[in-house]
Amino acid sequence: STIGDNFDEVAARFPTREALVDVAQGRRWTYAELREDVDRLARAFLVSGVRTGDRVGIWAPNCAEWTLTQFATAKIGAILVTINPSYRAHELAYVLNQAGVSTLVAVPSFRSSDYAAMIEEVRHDARALERVHLIGTGSWDDLLAGADDLSAEQLSVVQMSLEPNDPINIQYTSGTTGFPKGATLSHRNILNNGFFVGELCDYTEEDRVCIPVPFYHCFGMVMGNLACTTHGACMVIPAPGFDAETTLRAVQDERCTSLYGVPTMFIAEWNLPNFEEFDLSTVRTGIMAGSPCPAELMKKLIASGIEEMTIAYGMTETSPVSTQNRTDDTFEQKTGTVGRVGPHLEIKIVDPTGETVPRGVAGEFLTKGYSVMLGYWDEPEKTAEAVEDGWMHTGDIGVMDDDGFVRITGRIKDMVIRGGENVYPREIEEFLYTHPDIVDAQVIGVPDERYGEELCAWVQLREGAEPLDADRLREFCTGQLAHYKIPRYVEVVEEFPMTVTGKVRKVEMRQTMARKLG
Ligand code: ATP
Ligand code: MG
Repeated sequence: STIGDNFDEVAARFPTREALVDVAQGRRWTYAELREDVDRLARAFLVSGVRTGDRVGIWAPNCAEWTLTQFATAKIGAILVTINPSYRAHELAYVLNQAGVSTLVAVPSFRSSDYAAMIEEVRHDARALERVHLIGTGSWDDLLAGADDLSAEQLSVVQMSLEPNDPINIQYTSGTTGFPKGATLSHRNILNNGFFVGELCDYTEEDRVCIPVPFYHCFGMVMGNLACTTHGACMVIPAPGFDAETTLRAVQDERCTSLYGVPTMFIAEWNLPNFEEFDLSTVRTGIMAGSPCPAELMKKLIASGIEEMTIAYGMTETSPVSTQNRTDDTFEQKTGTVGRVGPHLEIKIVDPTGETVPRGVAGEFLTKGYSVMLGYWDEPEKTAEAVEDGWMHTGDIGVMDDDGFVRITGRIKDMVIRGGENVYPREIEEFLYTHPDIVDAQVIGVPDERYGEELCAWVQLREGAEPLDADRLREFCTGQLAHYKIPRYVEVVEEFPMTVTGKVRKVEMRQTMARKLG
């Protein structure tokens, strides 16, 4: 079925159940109310001139209107282009033109970003852009007011004309390794992925899922919103942007049963000085994903009572999830792996010649099945490079054990070759996390005349920790890591360069170190 049909079905099944809570705005919807508002917005879009296949951009941090726009566009088959809230004017212009966005939904401003001004700045360069609706202003009210000019029957005629394989989203990748690429995804891609993510978390209409991860990314809109709506669960939006304390307060006050985050978010939350003050006893499960999930952190989350916590692995181009832990996997499987392949998907791990490697041997990770994107929007060459015979090349290195559990050891682009030895930063980071004073650690390769590359660790220290220099850290590693895996350089930092999706931009760390080391 399509996203709209599935949403209607679930809303009809659980009309009085809570569907959506926007904590910052203090607003809540039951499934019946949400369906009514989604339908009103869908009719309003049609009246304003939006047609099936048109690109509707959304440029806003998490808020209820984001979710409404997601489902309203899905109902009329408009392709939602999710735009990174941290973009500046020139990046916005690029996306608007690349995707041919004709309608743009945005908030007027957020924190220090004046979205309205940036939109005005690029408006004449955005060739396809016809309409801009600013949430919470008169232009949003005007848009909604139009809805009355179209009947429910007229909307359902449009909805019934849609096909599951139609494109429904263009989602840009995080831009961790370079410029973001627009993955084009269908109803079938993301509806199924959201559904199976919810299945593996055992979601029912009793669940309340706290979603601090951005909606503009599939973690928020698919693993969050779609996993909920396919199960009648409630989407809880703690705040427009991430804040550790606000998130935990929302979990407590909204009695959430599930909590999402990239590792850096959980690290920030679990290290809050007043962490103990929050009652998180309602939390049963959750998903950590997006970048390498440290075993030490997973152990900490489970020890604090979230026994069914899971890790998921995937990428925007695969809707996103390819592997995930089941809630009943063993402690070792949950802390040490990214789970097994998801339902109805295939994975394979290959060597550089494309041959499948034996179990236990590392190689590039490939995914095939319903989740693989239709392609990169308007970039057939990039698509052909990435997808071969239905197999999506992830650029990640993985290992599978005899029971099918997978470990991701790193990205091909992040691998360091020191004196001819392949070093996966992930392994060293995992070890550094065991240091009592280290809160977060990231390891990169830096150019070196003698060895080709040398290892450099950036670490964040616990408040009040003793100073840590390269010598003391190397002492800690000696005898625990092979000599060629011991970082030569150590930088103590307050924070890492990050993408909005909460990923560490190692590209930027490498540039900083290259400048510093001259
Ligand atoms: P870009 O493709 O623009 O460089 P990106 O790959 O970070 O950015 P996403 O699609 O958001 O953009 O992220 C997918 C990547 O995130 C995966 O390829 C993988 O490297 C990493 N990743 C996701 N989940 C996990 C996980 N559980 N463990 C390790 N790595 C993960
Ligand atoms: Mg990628």
